[in-house]
Amino acid sequence: MLLTSSETALNDEADPLSIIVDQVNQCFSQADTFFGTRFKRSSCNFKQRGRAAGTAHLQKNELRFNYFMYLQDSVEFLSTVVPHEVAHIIVFQIYGNSVKPHGKEWQAVMFRVYGIRPSRTHTFDVPPQKHNYEYRCACQKHQFTKQRHTRAQRGTEYVCKKCRSSLQFMTP
Ligand SMILES: [Zn+2]
Ligand SMILES: [Zn+2]
Repeated sequence: MLLTSSETALNDEADPLSIIVDQVNQCFSQADTFFGTRFKRSSCNFKQRGRAAGTAHLQKNELRFNYFMYLQDSVEFLSTVVPHEVAHIIVFQIYGNSVKPHGKEWQAVMFRVYGIRPSRTHTFDVPPQKHNYEYRCACQKHQFTKQRHTRAQRGTEYVCKKCRSSLQFMTP
């Protein structure tokens, strides 16, 4: 959408953060042109973890991106996640805190500046949860969190909703 194929090929050798920074700056330039102003550029990093593809830290003017998701599909990431987060910064620099994060102002920037149908969610896989504990009943496997596992080990009994048999810890 925002990348031409020649740019993608050139960027293959570049380090991922500078590819992100280039795309962020391109999104800012498009907004500058659209609004006839110059927005303050954000700092960028790969500190985002967990389920979010990226977050915009408005007061710090900082964008955090999820490297795990960037690696899954960098072209998709650059053409959806980056404009999504930059749009939050643009809206904040115009309206401050007075509007909703994914409200009509943000949607308008997404659609009119970037030509993207606004969506608040992404389609990337979420990193696997660490410290999952596998339990088994008579019919299937169950994943327990650490807290639940601790409770089970201290004597709380868990029963499968489907087969009604009690769950047993599978020693790894
Ligand atoms: Zn958002
Ligand atoms: Zn069962």
